[in-house]
Amino acid sequence: MAVLVFIYGLITGSFLNVCIYRIPRQMSVVNPPSACPACGHRLRWYELVPVVSFIMQRGRCRKCTAAVAWRYPIVEIFTGAVFCLSYYLYGLSIDFWTVIILASLMLVVAFIDIEHRIIPNRLVIFGLAVGLVMGLLRPDAGIVFMAKGLLAGFGTLFVVAVVSRGQMGFGDVKLAAVMGLFLGWQGVLMAIFMAFLAGAVYGIFLMVVMGKGRKTAVPFGPFLAGATITVYLWSHQIISWYIRVILG
Ligand SMILES: [Zn+2]
Repeated sequence: MAVLVFIYGLITGSFLNVCIYRIPRQMSVVNPPSACPACGHRLRWYELVPVVSFIMQRGRCRKCTAAVAWRYPIVEIFTGAVFCLSYYLYGLSIDFWTVIILASLMLVVAFIDIEHRIIPNRLVIFGLAVGLVMGLLRPDAGIVFMAKGLLAGFGTLFVVAVVSRGQMGFGDVKLAAVMGLFLGWQGVLMAIFMAFLAGAVYGIFLMVVMGKGRKTAVPFGPFLAGATITVYLWSHQIISWYIRVILG
């Protein structure tokens, strides 16, 4: 079963790659069929097998030999791994489906933000719609849980966006609303805090190790995305660790 879930993750990852490429370019994610971005060569089924095609073609287009981005196999393997982890933690429960949808969305958000510095509204709307449905299906969520989470997430980053005068994009604020639907108010505050912490550590790394200036712009979406999945999967462990280690 775990193998099937992993293969399902690989195939989903392949679709997420299409989303990452097409959504910021205002293209449909279903039409037309996949083609090489360099030469327009329509990909055949054997050129679309996740990971395997990339290895067989040594990371190049079969027609024009243009390099295929490393993002493709990385996203596929990562998606497969997250699906497996979710199956291992939850079996085929409602939490499993929530995690794989949430992780898929966050993966697309993170890679688009890294490449284009935007979080498209299409993804925010999708996240709100799916978050609402999953929240009604999950026994531990519900309307009040979602409403508090949405307000806490949106409100917190809205204040940050206003105070920082545009350092924080409005896309991040809308993403925090989606995060709140899935995580509830305590969860979304924990995730925002973790994202700031990780972002600060990364910023220091850039300055000290890479010698970048203080003004280097770092997209915040990937940190929010990573923190969202981490909190959804391990919030209880993080809280008990915090109480044990920090508060003694
Ligand atoms: Zn090509």
